[in-house]
Amino acid sequence: MAIHHERGSVSIDAQNIMPVIKRWLYSDQDIFLREVVSNACDAITKHRMKHGQDEAMQVMVTVDKDEKTITISDTGIGMTADEVRRYINQVAFSGATEFMKQFENTEKKDEGDSIIGHFGLGFYSVFMVSDKVEIVTLSSEAGAEAVHWVSEDGMSFELGAGERDSHGTDIILHISEDAKEFLEVARVREVLTRYCGFMAHPVYLFDACAQPTEREETVEGETNEDGTPVKRTVMVEPMPSLINETAPLWLKKPSDCTKEEYLALYHKLFGWEEPLFWVHLNVDYPFNLKGILYFPKLKNDFGTHEGQVKLFAGQVFVADNVKEVIPEFLMLLKGVIDCPDLPLNVSRSFLQNDGTVKKLSAHITKKVADKLISLFNTERADYEKYWEDIHPFVKFGCMKDQKFYEQVKKALLFKLTDDRYVTLGEYQEANKDKAEKKVYYTNDARRQAASVAMYTGRGIDVAVMEHLIDANFLSFLEYSAGEDGVTFARVDADVSGLTEESDEGVSLNQAALAELFRKALGQEEMPVELAALADADLPAIVTEDEQMRRMKEMYRMYGQDFKLPDRYTLVLNRRNATVQALAGRDAEDETTQLLCQQLYDLARMSAGPLEAEEITAFIARSQKLVAMAATK
Ligand code: ADP
Repeated sequence: MAIHHERGSVSIDAQNIMPVIKRWLYSDQDIFLREVVSNACDAITKHRMKHGQDEAMQVMVTVDKDEKTITISDTGIGMTADEVRRYINQVAFSGATEFMKQFENTEKKDEGDSIIGHFGLGFYSVFMVSDKVEIVTLSSEAGAEAVHWVSEDGMSFELGAGERDSHGTDIILHISEDAKEFLEVARVREVLTRYCGFMAHPVYLFDACAQPTEREETVEGETNEDGTPVKRTVMVEPMPSLINETAPLWLKKPSDCTKEEYLALYHKLFGWEEPLFWVHLNVDYPFNLKGILYFPKLKNDFGTHEGQVKLFAGQVFVADNVKEVIPEFLMLLKGVIDCPDLPLNVSRSFLQNDGTVKKLSAHITKKVADKLISLFNTERADYEKYWEDIHPFVKFGCMKDQKFYEQVKKALLFKLTDDRYVTLGEYQEANKDKAEKKVYYTNDARRQAASVAMYTGRGIDVAVMEHLIDANFLSFLEYSAGEDGVTFARVDADVSGLTEESDEGVSLNQAALAELFRKALGQEEMPVELAALADADLPAIVTEDEQMRRMKEMYRMYGQDFKLPDRYTLVLNRRNATVQALAGRDAEDETTQLLCQQLYDLARMSAGPLEAEEITAFIARSQKLVAMAATK
């Protein structure tokens, strides 16, 4: 049956949809290549399923800058005239109705909301970049005849007999003036690499305008008179270049993948930095999820760090960092996730509420947690090495996702000032006699070195919690630890870990001593306490209430003007000889006042550096005291 020439209009739906497509996809024009190339790959797959693997099959993308065309040719199943009418003319582009509904319900286009443009529009997206589109196709059905279809606007078309010897389809795009960037081979290569880099059948790019190049070649077995090999110049015809890898690593069984292969994929996608380790996701049931997530080295300023998780749907690249599928905190990772079952032709808000998506995301989180736990259990030394890089991510994850926290909490490490890494349990066990359930920490080991030394000197471990996230994280732990509770105290928060319990006590008059110091320091309100500090040489320390200080830090972090006053408590050591000597002295006596001021400054200096003018006063007073001692 010969194909009669016919003209017509595609269905009324398309007439409405065309302008919408153009508007919607404007910012994302380059997806047209993905759509036609993935259709071509699908056509090859269909042919294979129907007829078995009888020949080498491929997609060829030819850019002809002179003719202003891009031709996408495949050796797939092709279409009969009837199929062209059905699939192309009747605008059976999948998700069309859905798409229309979505569009009607959307007030304005969200620029980032590009997923809707990524799927379901398919073939018609070529009209974004073309003045005219031709299809030449021959179905692989026995006795089929080639079909030629042409349309200038995607709305009216002509269909007739075509010319093609073997089954498959050519889509010829006559690129419009305002899309001429796509006539640059480099641009097309970039787009193909991005979207089609892992498609299931070989995709080649060919530059129809490339000239043959000259190459020097040695002639086998012939030598010149002087013994040098004979060379001749040969013309090398331009060749198509292969764009993709048809069997991406993430689809292989994890047990068949080597470390080198994992690293190679990482380098290919993310550059030359080394990842720390990775998780291979490989699920077939109850949903289909494949992927590899790498833990990159996180920079300390992780607030600005953004990972890159590439989402694929059946080897076709969809988008980077699709928040609806990948839990937010995992966005700090890099890698690939491939979910062929995702309903990607619907809007993102739909994805958010989709049951499969929720399960996917929970599964991914669990796998990541499993990996951390297994490293912790079996490769503790390596895990400790990684900790410095991964801890912000893990902590962030804990705070974002309670389940994740429950899973990894046994593997949370604390770095100590002596560079050991311990878990909370290990810390509590090692310090239980001296620290009860407290964890002593420093958030600035250098400035707080003197306070740290008071604890470490007594054999109490001090954790280093210097990262931006730690302030919030320790509050989170206190809040979440529940029953078996933990509290964190900065090394200058109180003196509970520094006191000598077996102290039989020298009884001093606390009220009188307090008065003496308040007067000497001119601070009427200052809290003054007496304690039996283990280090008898230490006259006094200042403490700052933990909760109060955290609140202040929080205000500062959020840039609030509201300033809480500093409120230090002076803790005098009643086991110290100087303090004992001062007790009972006359508050009006100048030397006594100088000594009180000096002790206070010394205590402050142990907690952190003084302000410039305080240092000046301290130096002047020190000189005076030294002079007094020398001339006595
Ligand atoms: P989708 O691919 O989402 O179904 P498209 O608009 O991209 O939507 O394509 C519509 C239909 O046209 C396809 O489902 C397929 O049946 C047919 N088709 C498109 N391109 C080809 C091709 N290269 N070879 C064979 N059939 C094709």
